[in-house]
Amino acid sequence: MATGCSTNEAKVKTDAKVAAVNTTKTETSKVAVSGELKVHYINVGQADSILIQQGSSSMLIDAGNNADSQTVKKYITDQGITNLDFLVGTHPHEDHIGGLDYVINSFKIGKIYMPKATSTTKTFTDVVNAIKSKGMKVSAPTPGESFKLGEATCTILAPNGSGYKDTNNDSIVIKVTFGGNSFLFTGDAEDVSENEMLAKGYDLKADVLKVGHHGSNSSTTQKFLDAVNPKYAVISVGKGNDYGHPVQSTMDKFKNKNISVYRTDENGTVIATSNGKDISFNVKPGSYNGAKEKVAAKTTTTTKSSNMNSVKAATPKVAAPKVTQEVAPKQSNSGTMVWLSATGSKYHSINNCGKMNPNNATQVTLEEAKKSYSPCSKCGPPQ
Ligand SMILES: [Zn+2]
Ligand SMILES: [Zn+2]
Repeated sequence: MATGCSTNEAKVKTDAKVAAVNTTKTETSKVAVSGELKVHYINVGQADSILIQQGSSSMLIDAGNNADSQTVKKYITDQGITNLDFLVGTHPHEDHIGGLDYVINSFKIGKIYMPKATSTTKTFTDVVNAIKSKGMKVSAPTPGESFKLGEATCTILAPNGSGYKDTNNDSIVIKVTFGGNSFLFTGDAEDVSENEMLAKGYDLKADVLKVGHHGSNSSTTQKFLDAVNPKYAVISVGKGNDYGHPVQSTMDKFKNKNISVYRTDENGTVIATSNGKDISFNVKPGSYNGAKEKVAAKTTTTTKSSNMNSVKAATPKVAAPKVTQEVAPKQSNSGTMVWLSATGSKYHSINNCGKMNPNNATQVTLEEAKKSYSPCSKCGPPQ
């Protein structure tokens, strides 16, 4: 068993005032550390997978889409790792837990954190079955709880509630502190969760922010960004993705605060190394280029109709890209893609089936579509 990995070794007081006064007893104070903390934001396209190493200890936060399983496994293996002390599935979306079952079956796993939120998807069932067949149990995250990863301290900051309309807000948020450096990992946590973390008075300050929900406009509220006040931001996002991530308005917030942004679509895998004082990166920062807001109206989730409408209502004059020909859905990391019209309850194999406006049609994975839509009987999409 790796040393220094036991959970609850130190219950860190996350109340900012207590932490400030009680500096000798809290792990969040700038304690002297040896060695390095290495954070790998693995390039898994439009998905998340982050490997964190300190000494001989390691933690994986998310494992990409199902299609990324072998990429993630190989990356971890290439670091000489056979044992993951902690495995975190931030929330039940495929682009976060897709490769989790494969990882569980490939490595010795210490402790698995997942939120209480469940899903009816095959991806989620696969993960649950992998955990069961290994005789393991899932630990539910308790905000304020902390555990050691080598000499680093990991503190859970969210989710602070349950029964969210959008399961992105179920995302486990973790702050990792190593000496005087800190990293915040937010999964797909959106404004709702960000506001809850602010209301709880947690010390959100971090040098490096893993940007929530791939840079979507649903996350990174100005208040939250001001509280984290990072020097660096990292976005895990797929090149030319269909979701319009990252959105320009989010990129502008980073630009305005002079925050260097690293992004997997431009930089590939991003590796941040901390010695407890300074943080260095393996690549140069990426651009502040983002997608126009209109494209971001369709997010990776299907339960946001009110939000989608409000976005659309706010930006009625932005012209949609002209698509006049029938376009078959392209294959992505996420598997089979299908089309959704701007309104209606069916999903389609083509973007101009019947009365739908092809210019407003958007692509989602078949798996996502099946959650809220039924197959169109006219164009007969995959089921
Ligand atoms: Zn999500
Ligand atoms: Zn996501």
